Amino acid sequence: MSRLKLLLLVLGLFLITSCAVQTGPPVSPEEIRRSQAEIWEIKLQEYFTCEERVGRLLIRILPQTEQEKPYPWFLVKGVDLARTPEEVDQALSEIFNENLPEKGILVTFVHPYYQNQGLQRGMLIRKLLSQEISLEHPIKLELTTGQRLNLKSLVIQTRPVDFRIVDSPQPNAWVTPDYRLHVTTALCRVLTNDNELAAVVGHELAHLKRGHLKKQMALMTLRDLLGIGIYALAGQTARDVYQLGTNFALLKFSRDQEREADFYGLWYIYRAGFNLEQAAQVWIHLAAVLPPGPPNILSTHPSSAERLARIRKIVKAIQAGQSFEAIKDKIQ
Ligand SMILES: [Zn+2]
Repeated sequence: MSRLKLLLLVLGLFLITSCAVQTGPPVSPEEIRRSQAEIWEIKLQEYFTCEERVGRLLIRILPQTEQEKPYPWFLVKGVDLARTPEEVDQALSEIFNENLPEKGILVTFVHPYYQNQGLQRGMLIRKLLSQEISLEHPIKLELTTGQRLNLKSLVIQTRPVDFRIVDSPQPNAWVTPDYRLHVTTALCRVLTNDNELAAVVGHELAHLKRGHLKKQMALMTLRDLLGIGIYALAGQTARDVYQLGTNFALLKFSRDQEREADFYGLWYIYRAGFNLEQAAQVWIHLAAVLPPGPPNILSTHPSSAERLARIRKIVKAIQAGQSFEAIKDKIQ
């Protein structure tokens, strides 16, 4: 091909591609921003639905784990508006039907114990007036309206676990030594049955409550005061959180620790009143629908046919009315 022909070909290709770019009416930056806000609205709705589900499951399952000593549990989730980009603020305003201020914590999930004392989803916290959460003193908050709330602490007999939803396309769940459970939006999407999601939550809580993460304790710092998850839903922070989370998620638990987490997890959710047969389906369900290869929940929780068969056996024994000790001795 001569140099001229080649030049014409390149020029022709350039014209074709540049024409394609200009097809259709032009859109303004404002219109693009509006579309972006609509996309965020759908993403956030999914995020909050997942948050609501995991929060409700945690409230049911956590009190059924190991009894330790009395602790105050302040389970409230919120979005720090100072850290969210403009499109997210716009989408949040649509969802909560409000013109949101630039600063404040938008409350997105509240334990019913605190709801009953007047703290509701959609409220805006200006600041926390209490320095700490204690069994004796009320938790004092100031809302952006100027209203002050004095909330009596909820007391549970086990060390509280906070939770965080991570926006990620990978179905996964893990716990970190700062006593936090992480669940990705994709896991909520894949597991539409609450019994199945409860099985994952129970398994993860067992890793915490049985001390499987103890060695990693020193690596983490407690960042959040009062247990409120104040986070940004977009940008660097979310990515950092995911990075941090996946680093921990990729820690390999031993085979024995996985067995123990399966066993205790099933007991927790049984005591919490979940359907064990449906719950046991979760590992088969995940193995069937998830593509192979990391990172997903199966790669961080190595599954096997042997494991599934054992879980089925435990479920049968529990349903037959056998005691915790009897099954534990037989399984191990
Ligand atoms: Zn595990």
